[in-house]
Amino acid sequence: MTTPGSGTTTLANFIDGAFVTTGQTFDNISPVDGSIVNRVHEAGAAEVDAAVKAARTALHGPWGQLSDLERASLLRRVAELIESRFDEFLAAEQADTGKPITWASSVDIPRAAGNFNAFAESKFHHADEAFHTTLGDGSRLLNYTHRRPLGVIAAIVPWNLPLLLLTWKVAPALACGNAIVVKPSEFTPTTATLLAQVMHDAGIPHGVFNLVQGFGPSSAGQYLIEHPDIDGITFTGGTTTGAVVMSAASKSLIPVSLELGGKNAAIVFPDADLGAVIDGITRSTFANAGQVCLCTERIYVHQDVFDEVTERLARSAQDQILGDPTDPATTMGPLIGRSHREKVQRAFTTALDEGATLVTGGKIPKFGSSLDDGAWILPTVLTGLPNDARTQTEEIFGPVCHVTSFAAEDSAIELVNSSRYGLAASVWSNDVARAHRVAQGLDTGIAWVNTWFARDLRTPFGGTKMSGIGREGGRHSIEFYTKVSNVCVAI
Ligand code: NAD
Repeated sequence: MTTPGSGTTTLANFIDGAFVTTGQTFDNISPVDGSIVNRVHEAGAAEVDAAVKAARTALHGPWGQLSDLERASLLRRVAELIESRFDEFLAAEQADTGKPITWASSVDIPRAAGNFNAFAESKFHHADEAFHTTLGDGSRLLNYTHRRPLGVIAAIVPWNLPLLLLTWKVAPALACGNAIVVKPSEFTPTTATLLAQVMHDAGIPHGVFNLVQGFGPSSAGQYLIEHPDIDGITFTGGTTTGAVVMSAASKSLIPVSLELGGKNAAIVFPDADLGAVIDGITRSTFANAGQVCLCTERIYVHQDVFDEVTERLARSAQDQILGDPTDPATTMGPLIGRSHREKVQRAFTTALDEGATLVTGGKIPKFGSSLDDGAWILPTVLTGLPNDARTQTEEIFGPVCHVTSFAAEDSAIELVNSSRYGLAASVWSNDVARAHRVAQGLDTGIAWVNTWFARDLRTPFGGTKMSGIGREGGRHSIEFYTKVSNVCVAI
């Protein structure tokens, strides 16, 4: 095995502190130009079993004896090592995903290190309940909450923000004293492999962090969620897969945290600062080529500013610079792969069949270079569809939005809430009372006002309806990654 992220190398699994190859490899293909980034050793049932056993054993080893303080110091060391290998992580993430350097260097890698720093602290700020109780006979009790690690955690993550979403789970799980087996997406195996090296170098004891590579069905993903000796599953990915994960968890009644898909909306009121609206919605629609679970695909604009907003957004889409992800001038990368591009193209066909007006985009760009072998698509703006069209109800997960006009505040709220998803929304208005009123009326896990994607890691993150179950972030992560008992003392 050679260093990940540096050419046609092979990536291994990481089990009980050692890299493990299997001989069964698959190609990791660059979405930029279709070249092979590296080859990956797929874990089978035996490797997944070994990883779960190693995690179980680690819980009873030195890791289980560490204080919160000692674990926090190891997590900070992990953050430092990610920062010290920043360029390697950056190159690896860009090689796997084709993300522009401006985005990956300001979001993916720093936020990954930030997750370890934030969750190293979070245990110290966590307060639990205590009740003084007086019984009928006058005797007194002290009841208090006692937390222990949940145990062996299975973490499965998608390809869109590979390291960020992985560390969002690993950091709190380890802060709470668990051991973990992670499975990154088959499309983005490289930064997870680098993270395994960092875990080793930081001195995280063997078996505490294990990595299995592979696919979902009949591969590492399925073997992991169906393993009888895991204590909880934290999953981020598509809604259909989330249902499969929940069903697997139901066999042994273990807790699940599901961060799933969305069909996120923005509402633009005529009193908003339209310059800020265009900047904000351009970002929320086209960032990471629309492949952020929080990206906006439905935009509801008040009828008084509908034409202006649609026109300016279309110009903004046309101004996106697609190209070499390592060039700081590039603003948009490719989709994750050809199969995903086919899905996005099918969504365009559906939109046109449903009667949409294509304002801009809707096509594959031509570069006249090796980039034509990648998975590129033009940023796209649509109008003209009713709210119950498939284009308005199904997640596309590409750089595409549909703009609809509305007349009244109540109807805008209704349009947003009509979705079976409920992950995120943004409200654009300079009327303070209206902004709060509307944000509070939205049935979504997060409602931004005059911003998008900004996060405080102490706040609850997750979705309503088909966008997920459970919340992560701050105390919500601590609550998921621990099991609680009440200690009742006669005093
Ligand atoms: P996906 O559901 O296809 O795959 C996610 C992960 O699950 C991958 O690692 C995959 O290998 C694994 N997997 C697939 N089938 C499995 C199975 N049967 N058993 C076990 N594991 C299985 O999702 P994706 O295409 O990688 O990611 C895109 C989706 O993720 C979008 O729907 C997006 O909205 C969602 N997402 C949600 C959030 C959030 O926080 N809510 C964040 C990012 C992405």
